Amino acid sequence: MVLISLLSLWAGSPSEIALQEENSVLYEQLAETRDVIVELDEQISSITEVDNELYRSMLGIDPLPEDERLGGVGGADMHSEYDVFQQETSELLRWTAENVESLERRINIQKVSFNELQEHYNENREKMGHLPAVKPVNGQVLSGFGMREHPVLGYQRHHDGVDFRARIGTPIYATGDGVVQEAGRRGNYGIRIIIDHDYGYQTKYAHLNEIEDGIEPGTEVERGQQIAESGNTGVTSGPHLHYEVHQNNQPVDPLNYLFADLSPQEYREYRRIAEENPMSMD
Ligand SMILES: [Zn+2]
Repeated sequence: MVLISLLSLWAGSPSEIALQEENSVLYEQLAETRDVIVELDEQISSITEVDNELYRSMLGIDPLPEDERLGGVGGADMHSEYDVFQQETSELLRWTAENVESLERRINIQKVSFNELQEHYNENREKMGHLPAVKPVNGQVLSGFGMREHPVLGYQRHHDGVDFRARIGTPIYATGDGVVQEAGRRGNYGIRIIIDHDYGYQTKYAHLNEIEDGIEPGTEVERGQQIAESGNTGVTSGPHLHYEVHQNNQPVDPLNYLFADLSPQEYREYRRIAEENPMSMD
């Protein structure tokens, strides 16, 4: 009897022990929730970035201002009820509550933004069908747009397109509706097709193995239609597809014109690969 009383004094009564256990489980749970919130926050940031940099810039819609995206945080302290707890607990509770609210706001704004994009798309269906917006080949990106070392010439020069991994014979597709402007051998490009998409856009597909029957200057093509087989003609360091997008006669980064095909995560992954590789296949 005496022993039991002494033990309770030292370790707390059974109900106190149970409460302490419950407390520490709740605290751990809260800390895990915090990690999930941090991860969700990064994900929504990435979606927001792609929305602004890719979809909006391609469709010619102004990016949403940052303060609108963040949804106006601030004002009175809404969580003073946590002040009664220990400081560490109260801070964690407050942080969690505020950040969950911020996530909700940002997701709602993102929904509105995507609705706006959808509306824009529907209103501009004709143009959207012509714009290059999908991958020209089913293959991984090898090298990106910009200054790259030429694999054969060995010096730095501007790489006007993106190189996709493609074995000889892989189907190549038109990336938007348009009219074939050129189809045949063209110097270092090997066998090449150029499609005019109207609205100031052209796409070019180089180092092809074979052009599909009936694809010649003047042929109308649709997005997703097979126009050729990939190859290794012209000057290259191996089989691949060299793909260019031109806007108003200037080469632009084709990675920005895959938006109908790629999720925000895939887009970021493609961009990382394209930027890491210092050499083009040409
Ligand atoms: Zn290339």
